[in-house]
Amino acid sequence: MSSSSKASVIVVGGGLAGLTNALHLAQSGVEVVLFEKDAFPRHKVCGEYISNEVLPFLQHLGVNPFELGATPISRCSLSSIKGREVQATLPLGGFGISRFLLDNHLQQKCVEAGVQLIEDSVLHIQFSGKEFQVRTKSHGDWTAELVIGAYGKRSRLDKEHGREFMEEKAPYLAVKRHFAGEFPEDLVALHNFKGGYCGVSKVEEGRINVCYLADYSAFKPYRDIDRFEREVVRRNPHLARCFQEFEPLFESPMTISQVSFAPKERVYQQVLMSGDSAGMIHPLCGNGMGMAIGSAEILSNLILRYRKGEFSSRTALGAAYDQQWRQQYRKRLLAGRMFSALFSRNQLFDQAVSVLTHVPVLLPFFVRQTHGS
Ligand SMILES: Cc1cc2nc3c(=O)[nH]c(=O)nc-3n(C[C@H](O)[C@H](O)[C@H](O)COP(=O)(O)OP(=O)(O)OC[C@H]3O[C@@H](n4cnc5c(N)ncnc54)[C@H](O)[C@@H]3O)c2cc1C
Repeated sequence: MSSSSKASVIVVGGGLAGLTNALHLAQSGVEVVLFEKDAFPRHKVCGEYISNEVLPFLQHLGVNPFELGATPISRCSLSSIKGREVQATLPLGGFGISRFLLDNHLQQKCVEAGVQLIEDSVLHIQFSGKEFQVRTKSHGDWTAELVIGAYGKRSRLDKEHGREFMEEKAPYLAVKRHFAGEFPEDLVALHNFKGGYCGVSKVEEGRINVCYLADYSAFKPYRDIDRFEREVVRRNPHLARCFQEFEPLFESPMTISQVSFAPKERVYQQVLMSGDSAGMIHPLCGNGMGMAIGSAEILSNLILRYRKGEFSSRTALGAAYDQQWRQQYRKRLLAGRMFSALFSRNQLFDQAVSVLTHVPVLLPFFVRQTHGS
């Protein structure tokens, strides 16, 4: 690379992990360049319920979701295919806000803080032993001292770099819509159906987010979203009511496929991974965004310490990050995998809901296994 542009830190991906890493570093005086392949603002396939766990860090960054119109959420409910339902208070609580609004607000804060935000795809990242070389689609080649990989659950970069999890099956399909209608402000509901589960909760301006994840093998015989919803999703009477009574606000549903929850490396070829790039929790736990923002808090704090000379090398920085990430999230990912296995066995899940209706304190206990404090 002959005439590369230079940056101290390059962040690849402008979702919640990338934006909060970039914002924290820029506010602390670090020169940051962030590449995001899509234009802001944009909707994302996501349940849009965020745990309050992230509030202290967001507030530290000068971001108050409630000033933007986020809906406080304090209760959760679970229902089985048969419609059996249990409700409980969420131990920590959370809020509903669309990614359209939150990500766009964060990207504006990044620009105000001095982040150079470039709408472009990163095609290749390479560590030379001394520095990183980053190749972009339309903005040439760059060099950087550190690179944060915040490019989400599955990126062409993962394939390009041969990350092992790309070899594993990614058998899930996800669908999201916003609706208008009547739904309790303070509730996040999770409804089971054959081959998947669907979250329902409010975001800003009274909009209702309905977002579901389905095993592709359950969807495959239907091939068509409308038919799948009519014949499978709506068998749960709670979901039948939602789809019947709510008015769609999107012309057509947003969909993504090839969702996988395979374990990943936190540091790969010296790139520091944050958010879903480091590991993804099952959406039924409602805490992927919390983990994206939380992992950014851990990583950006460690990078600031590295820049003060507290770590002898990039490798030492990576090892500290890996250790803190595992300490914070490893058990949650395991709990998420266990709960997802239970959800996938509809009969057993119905029995579990029946037990929970008799011992309701168990539900907050299970929620606590996938959320922090
Ligand atoms: C169906 C479903 C429902 C969910 N519901 C919830 C929920 O209710 N609550 C919750 O907390 N979590 C939920 N999650 C999880 C949550 O959406 C993710 O954990 C969160 O979005 C992770 O943020 P991120 O920044 O790591 O990745 P992302 O938000 O995916 O951001 C990655 C960014 O990188 C960009 N990018 C990728 N490749 C490149 C490249 N080569 N160059 C430049 N840019 C690139 C992408 O365009 C993207 O904007 C859900 C997930 C799914 C699938």
